[in-house]
Amino acid sequence: DFLACKEPHTMTQRTLVLLKPDAVRRALVGEILGRIERKAGWTITALELRTLDRPILEQHYAEHVGRPFYEPLVEFMASGPVVALIVEGERVIEGVRQLAGPTDPIAAAPGSIRGDFGVIVRENLIHASDSEESAEREVKIFFPGRA
Ligand code: UDP
Repeated sequence: DFLACKEPHTMTQRTLVLLKPDAVRRALVGEILGRIERKAGWTITALELRTLDRPILEQHYAEHVGRPFYEPLVEFMASGPVVALIVEGERVIEGVRQLAGPTDPIAAAPGSIRGDFGVIVRENLIHASDSEESAEREVKIFFPGRA
């Protein structure tokens, strides 16, 4: 009908992003942050370099406990510092997931972060919240002051 709008409704959100230890080790932090920063209107509102311990990773990856990849994943995520950040802006939850690409870097399209830089599934460079519920849960875990 004539009232239909071609643009999606405004939806300001926040999301929790981790640049995983492989991204830090390979000096890809600037490259990845740059891609996020260049999206119009998005803002990095918290940022920290930090080595994660087991308890925080067990909380973060609670939904994966018992899966065969869980133990190696936790070990990898504790193997060196990560960069944790909060990004705020229009449709940022879906948007950062799009920048990242699918979990398997070989399946991820060139142009995406995982598609451009990743090979193996575990070391896929970036975590990004997948829903508003997980974003709020994960912000509480990594930046309790921002809850
Ligand atoms: N992962 C893995 N093996 C798998 C599936 C996942 O090592 O078979 C790792 C990978 O690092 C992934 C993380 O576990 O990013 C969390 O998995 P999830 O399915 O939530 O993927 P994501 O949302 O990060 O794309």
